[in-house]
Amino acid sequence: MIGMTRDTLSSMWPFTSRTHTNEHPELFLTNTLSGKKERFVSLRPNAATLYSCGPTVYDRASIGNLRAYVFADTLARALSYAGYKVQRVINITDVGHLVADAEQGEDKMDSTAKREHKTPQEIAAHYTGLFFNDIQALNIDASDITFPRATEYIREQIAMVETLEGQGFAYPADDGIYFDTSKFPGYGKLGGIDTSTLQAGARITTTSSKRHPHDFALWRFAKAGDLQQWDSPWGKGNPGWHIECSAMSRALLGPEIDIHTGGIDHIGVHHNNEIAQSEALTQKPFVRYWMHNAFLTMTGEKISKSLGNVFYISDITARGIHPLALRYFFLQAHYRTPLAFSWDALAGAAEALTRLWRIAKETRREAAGKSAHSSAQTEFAALLMDDLATPQAIGLLWETLRDQSLSAAERLGILDAADKLLGLSLENPPLPETFSLSELPDAIRLIAEERETARKARDFREADRLRAEIETRGYRVDDRPEGTVFSPILTTR
Ligand code: AMP
Ligand code: ZN
Repeated sequence: MIGMTRDTLSSMWPFTSRTHTNEHPELFLTNTLSGKKERFVSLRPNAATLYSCGPTVYDRASIGNLRAYVFADTLARALSYAGYKVQRVINITDVGHLVADAEQGEDKMDSTAKREHKTPQEIAAHYTGLFFNDIQALNIDASDITFPRATEYIREQIAMVETLEGQGFAYPADDGIYFDTSKFPGYGKLGGIDTSTLQAGARITTTSSKRHPHDFALWRFAKAGDLQQWDSPWGKGNPGWHIECSAMSRALLGPEIDIHTGGIDHIGVHHNNEIAQSEALTQKPFVRYWMHNAFLTMTGEKISKSLGNVFYISDITARGIHPLALRYFFLQAHYRTPLAFSWDALAGAAEALTRLWRIAKETRREAAGKSAHSSAQTEFAALLMDDLATPQAIGLLWETLRDQSLSAAERLGILDAADKLLGLSLENPPLPETFSLSELPDAIRLIAEERETARKARDFREADRLRAEIETRGYRVDDRPEGTVFSPILTTR
């Protein structure tokens, strides 16, 4: 064997591609550009760049927004599992995003700052902090993520706009510098948008002297009341919303990146605008794989403040539900499938996750912490490699855990793989505390004592009735050989 390289060895092997696949499982992703599932091939070997459109920090992230970040985190976990070193960016929008996503009007940051009698910087710092808490609560692995603020990249944004103007892709209008969409062939190519119906931004206004309805602001001239403004070749002003993602992606990840993610609402305008300005600048592809998550909806409707159905992580914890139940709930659906939120469905996810945590803890104990590989583990990972088939992967996980023909070590092996890929804290389950009878709140302790009496008298019907009563009051009853223990039920009560 001496002198034989891996290549000569593998060329002797009848299943050469298999050998390669075993080292780096192949990953398939649905690319919005082609509308098809494609094999992922990175620009650089063993490395992947991933940009995700981040929050506008004028408010807390709703649970709908959080679906987008759990999706991107699951994607990053799949990329790491497939052997890629992932370099990630999630931008923090602290300027440029106008109220109602409009092309003209007030900046969302300014609007909140004025209402709360604070500076936009104070507003940004506050909501950025809350965003970081949210993503931590959802086990989003931030170790490979850079979080650039749009206000820290003003110079790069101005430089891009200047170049685009020099190239003839941008022109001055009354209120700012606009991108000329007629100069960019294939504008609207992402998602096959029909540009004859595509709105420029959310609204077409008549006040601007822009040339075409789909043209969009790259830079806005300062107007009275603007709280954030910078010097530029065009006088004082502030950046358009779309340019920040192009400028920060370019500055931090390079002119061409592997994957860009966001919710489907961004396909039509925001991402087509990012493509237009980035590709006009470099005359090269900007992103190889565009990926979009479907929406989290409430009873078939969009989540929005005006509909009064916006919920936050704090609403979940206030109901005694662990935030990771939300992650489990998201993963039960494929990222490309719309998902309807309800408190009952979330409570169901919480129950299932608590059960999974208990099994994980028990399995680790049984296996004495030693895991073994099984074909079920390979199958599990293969499902994630198939465009992040999380619902099927969770199904397989449950099936495997029930399969008594597998050893505890093999069951632990799949749990460890699931922990890496799904991020559900299976290695170190944050199980709710348990209480002994004497530690219960008085009102519940009295019922529990009555139940003990009924059990001793072998009146099981009464004991069951009292168990149900205790559960209605929020405590699960678990009769163990060493005595009965009680744990808070993670439900909506
Ligand atoms: P925004 O702060 O509105 O720019 O949104 C942040 C991210 O959340 C973007 O990727 C949006 O596309 C995404 N998003 C917004 N609302 C929802 C929702 N209800 N369900 C899933 N993703 C959403
Ligand atoms: Zn963006």
